[in-house]
Amino acid sequence: VPYTKEDIIRIVREKDIKFIRMQFADIFGQLKNVALTASQVEKAVNNQIMFDGSSVEGFVRIDESDQCLYPDLNSFTVFPWRAQFGETARLICDVYNTDGSAFMGDPRNVLKRMIGRMHDMGYDTFNVGPECEFFLFKTDENGRPTTETNDEAGYFDLGPLDHGESTRREICLNLEQMGFEIEASHHENAAGQHEIDFKYADALTAADNIMTFKLAVKTLAQKNGLHATFMPKPIFGVAGSGMHTNMSLFKDGKNVFYDPDDPRGLSKEAYSFIAGILAHVRGFTAITNPLVNSYKRLVPGYEAPCYLAWSASNRSALIRIPAARGQSTRVELRSPDPSCNPYLAFAVCLAAGLDGIEKGLTPPAEITENIYAMDAAALEAHGIAALPDSLSSAIKALEADPLIMDALGDHVSSYYIAGKRREWREYKTRVSSWEVEKYMTNY
Ligand code: GLN
Ligand code: MG
Ligand code: MG
Ligand code: MG
Repeated sequence: VPYTKEDIIRIVREKDIKFIRMQFADIFGQLKNVALTASQVEKAVNNQIMFDGSSVEGFVRIDESDQCLYPDLNSFTVFPWRAQFGETARLICDVYNTDGSAFMGDPRNVLKRMIGRMHDMGYDTFNVGPECEFFLFKTDENGRPTTETNDEAGYFDLGPLDHGESTRREICLNLEQMGFEIEASHHENAAGQHEIDFKYADALTAADNIMTFKLAVKTLAQKNGLHATFMPKPIFGVAGSGMHTNMSLFKDGKNVFYDPDDPRGLSKEAYSFIAGILAHVRGFTAITNPLVNSYKRLVPGYEAPCYLAWSASNRSALIRIPAARGQSTRVELRSPDPSCNPYLAFAVCLAAGLDGIEKGLTPPAEITENIYAMDAAALEAHGIAALPDSLSSAIKALEADPLIMDALGDHVSSYYIAGKRREWREYKTRVSSWEVEKYMTNY
């Protein structure tokens, strides 16, 4: 619904809303917010809320720390879950400098810039449909998360095996109250693992939705005594959590990826978009798979991709083309995981796809065999390259891809890479329990 400032002021009064949360994301995708009492609503809708950007990761230095929040009025939502002290509403905000210019380090701004480039190329909308997977874990007596699940169910199982079902249902109903259209929700492969799919939207709305989705899942899990995590691989030996990203480009209300005359029903633009993704996916993996832990998911055997290939059906491929055609024609990228910053992730995917279209790239031949079953020689014979296998190699691949660096902009790319390098160094020197088990007695 399009809201005006006056609508929001009126609703806050009428519904006796006590707090307004002004939300934005830092460059690592952490949701941040400034909570205001309802008395500040006029200031809030008139872009007059300032905050100290120097305390937000990847934002600004201490000597230039004042920043402003410009709320996106259409993001106005009242949280359906009851808080302790009355109703709370939220507004998703853009971050501006005090001189009135948009802040280059705001991930939402990065995505908006890329959408602007897409408009310049003659497309109206980049539609994205994410499939977020997550785990629900039991908490201990201190409320700390464990790695114990509250069910032993598997893919598409249902109660009484699936004790997480009631929590998942509550999440879906709350999301619907916030205007989400839930298309599917089911138990995933691993015990305690779930997936909830909501309807696709333009990339900016889809990224906003993911931020709201994660907050809702975590909040409602906690209300049920559980801990929800979007960590990509919480348990060794079982499936990790992905965020398959379904993408299409629209022009004049029509999906330009569809071509009924092509044997596969795909347009030249769709093929070029796929080729662009394949050309840059190594460069943008540090964005779509941002954690040390992300690379423990991208291994053979768990329906997560590790090689660069596309296929109309094969689920071991990095890119799959779901069977639907017409307006639903889309490219499904299977590498992203839900720990990524969705604004940056969609911006780099779009940058890669548009580059493919601009250059008229054609993708390599489709791979129909099971890629997990191929040995090194077979991979080599098919010319199939691999995704980066660690955060460290992903950072190097990012630095080596000028198109992706440019899509992020100087501010975000430099802060992002510096932060991820620190994370890698911290990890690299730790001694893991695996090493202790493996070496302590033998050496
Ligand atoms: N959990 C798998 C992953 O890591 C995906 C499983 C599926 O949805 N088919 O991406
Ligand atoms: Mg799915
Ligand atoms: Mg799934
Ligand atoms: Mg999928």
